[in-house]
Formats: sequence, C-alpha cells, structure tokens
Amino acid sequence: MENIEKYRAIIDIAFKACENAYAPYSNYQVGACVLTKDSKHFIGANVENASYGLTNCAERNAIFQAYSNGYRKGDIEAIAIVSKGKTLATPCGACRQVLVELLEKNTPIVLSNHKEEKITNIEELLPMSFTEADL
Ligand SMILES: [Zn+2]
Repeated sequence: MENIEKYRAIIDIAFKACENAYAPYSNYQVGACVLTKDSKHFIGANVENASYGLTNCAERNAIFQAYSNGYRKGDIEAIAIVSKGKTLATPCGACRQVLVELLEKNTPIVLSNHKEEKITNIEELLPMSFTEADL
C-alpha cells in the first residue's frame, strides 16, 4: 500500500476546499484537490441547486478546473476527495463515469474523512466501465 502521507498536503487543501461547499439541501460538504505532475493544485467543492439534479460534485468541479486549465489525464498525479461525514466520501456513480475518462486507470484517488483514509483508483472503483474504447 502506497504511503498516504505523501498526499497529506492535497488532503489538507481538499479539507480547506470543503469549507467552500454550497450544500444548503444536503448539508453534506465535500472537498477535492487535483495535484498535477508540475505541482499545481485545482480545488473543487460540491455546489448544490434547488433543482437537485443540477448539483455538481466536488471531484468533478476539481477535475473540470484542471482540464479547463489545459491539463489532461497524463498530467495528473493524484486527486484527494474528502468530507467530514461518518464514512469516506467515495465518488458517486456520475463522478466515477467522468473520472474513468479523465484520469489514468491507476491515478491515485485519495479519500479521507479525518477518521479513515484510503488510496484507491478508478479501475478499482469502476470495473468493466464503458469508455471511449467501446465506441
Ligand atoms: Zn459525484
């Protein structure tokens, strides 16, 4: 198992991003931080909407920020996704589908809720996925 301490900085940044969450409906705040191979950070927090389906998750906001700044999957070192919930905030189904296309299969996905921490990757989170290779 990879040493999670090497990701401590992005875990801490993701917890800071968590404070920016706009979550008046669920009261469930999530933060994320993408680390690029050239040491840039792109943060995201969940942003909800009264029309619930328009809510966007923290990890999608963070990865979209990275892509919007010109970064692509090969440039991404890791992503941290954190919450203060009672369980780890693993990506929802929609986010897994986005991450399988926008991350390398083995890019570390670092999860933390302060009590528990885990390093996983999208191949583990979304096996037998539908991707551009199927088209
Ligand atoms: Zn999601």
